[in-house]
Amino acid sequence: MTDRYAVIGNPIAQSKSPLIHGAFAKVTGQDIDYTKLLAPVGGFAATLDAFRAAGGRGMNVTAPFKLDAFAYATDLAPSAQMAGAVNALKFEGDKVHAQNFDGVGLVRDLVHNLACPIKGRRVLILGAGGATRGALLPLLAEHPAELVIVNRTVSKAQALAALAQQHQSGKVPVHAAAYADVAGVFDVVLNASSSSLTAELPPLPPSVFSPDCLAYDLTYGKGLTPFLKLAQQAGVTRLADGVGMLAEQAAEAFAWWRGVRPDTSGVIQQLTVPLV
Ligand code: NDP
Repeated sequence: MTDRYAVIGNPIAQSKSPLIHGAFAKVTGQDIDYTKLLAPVGGFAATLDAFRAAGGRGMNVTAPFKLDAFAYATDLAPSAQMAGAVNALKFEGDKVHAQNFDGVGLVRDLVHNLACPIKGRRVLILGAGGATRGALLPLLAEHPAELVIVNRTVSKAQALAALAQQHQSGKVPVHAAAYADVAGVFDVVLNASSSSLTAELPPLPPSVFSPDCLAYDLTYGKGLTPFLKLAQQAGVTRLADGVGMLAEQAAEAFAWWRGVRPDTSGVIQQLTVPLV
């Protein structure tokens, strides 16, 4: 029997997940049906109950339901606990297993696809929302020399830095800063703020980019965002957006559900928008 999966959100029309998982099913020969599920705001639990009752096996979760999924889950993986949000669910009887694969997807894209090792390097991350929170432990597990979190609302960056220090007993120095106070030069600069969704430029000093730095915008499909343009104007030639992260977090979910990890290169190629 064909196993049923879905991505749930509101809105949901924009989601690339059915395309991605459809491609993964094809390359791995897995028999799955993967659809989009529009749930009313406030109607997450009822929509999920109905999907599970109809035999649904798992689900990806997108905005605005990542916190609802956290509350709905019976078994939270450490990645979901640390992120405080859930982006993948697996249903087994009464159990609702929950994961957050965003951070591991980001690191896999950086290290594997982009051949950009994190170990021993200075990493700057912009933003202190859900994406940064989910990325912290996977980034720290790669042993950077230092991780600096910069955010418009500095208190949020400070809270995340303290949380990160707590979870890895201070092995990697993690600091928080305001944009005006970011000091030094970084090997990897990650824009995990949502500034690129509105084509805004975070107030980042261009002096942060080292000449051989990787500038990476987690937002995808927007071409050369103001952040990537700033990096380019500062002389950075290694630019990337979050399309690989999107594909890699999806591949992690697929492997978790189906026991086979798909190759992501075809999907990344298909979804890549040139950075111009
Ligand atoms: P949140 O809404 O949780 O957080 C948004 C963050 O962006 C906040 O820290 C906010 O600062 C900051 N911000 C918003 N606008 C600006 C601006 N103009 N200048 C500077 N900072 C700004 O969002 P998420 O963390 O969930 O997502 C962040 C981005 O990452 C989104 O663009 C999303 O699309 C992308 N993403 C990509 C994924 C992928 O697979 N490629 C997966 C997950 C997310 P403040 O706290 O001061 O308000």
